[in-house]
Amino acid sequence: MALKYEPNYNHSAIIGDKTIYFKPWTTKNEKDYLLAIDSKDNIDNTLLFNMLIKPCLKDKNLSLTLNEQKMLMIEIRKKSIGETFSLNFTCKKCKNVNQIDIELDKIIKYKPDNFKSVTIDNMVFEFKNSPSENLKARLDNCENSIEYSFIELLIHISSIEINGEIEDTFTFNELTEFIEDLPSSVFDKLFKEFKDMNGSLEFELKSHCMICNEENDLNISSIPNFLWT
Ligand SMILES: [Zn+2]
Repeated sequence: MALKYEPNYNHSAIIGDKTIYFKPWTTKNEKDYLLAIDSKDNIDNTLLFNMLIKPCLKDKNLSLTLNEQKMLMIEIRKKSIGETFSLNFTCKKCKNVNQIDIELDKIIKYKPDNFKSVTIDNMVFEFKNSPSENLKARLDNCENSIEYSFIELLIHISSIEINGEIEDTFTFNELTEFIEDLPSSVFDKLFKEFKDMNGSLEFELKSHCMICNEENDLNISSIPNFLWT
């Protein structure tokens, strides 16, 4: 007999200018995730994508930025488990441990990417919205935020026009060398333009203590551990 559960990709999320169709997590996805957090110290973005996002996508070849991946993960979580998760925090004033329920939509601040070309002196830099999975994986091994920002810039450069000639077939290492050889004034300008165009995703949360009513800023720097809590 052919006992097979056919999934329905009948949920959709609008992220930036993309409409993405997906299905909620299955028992297998949950099991894979729980086994992974049990056996690894650090689950990087690539593993998280392959484990918890890609299996849910109707279009398995969809190209997403890291922030789009994270936004999509939140949407999948909302449809799979619910729109709230609970969090404990210790009040900075009275040290009471508060337990609160957080609505995911209320803590997210998201700005989509908005890339256009950047001209500096005799060069025109073009950017791409969605670097390949191989390129994005380079962010997983960064040792600090400076290296992360540098590589984030590099993996988004799609071509460089120099004196009217377009270069777009360079390797990652060739590009790294080229960018490192730029005068620092040119690099600083390029980096600033990139930062302004690059999207952002932050989690912002303030909550009042139940005992003393002090307002606490809860610092959530990355995707909180909301997956199965
Ligand atoms: Zn308090």
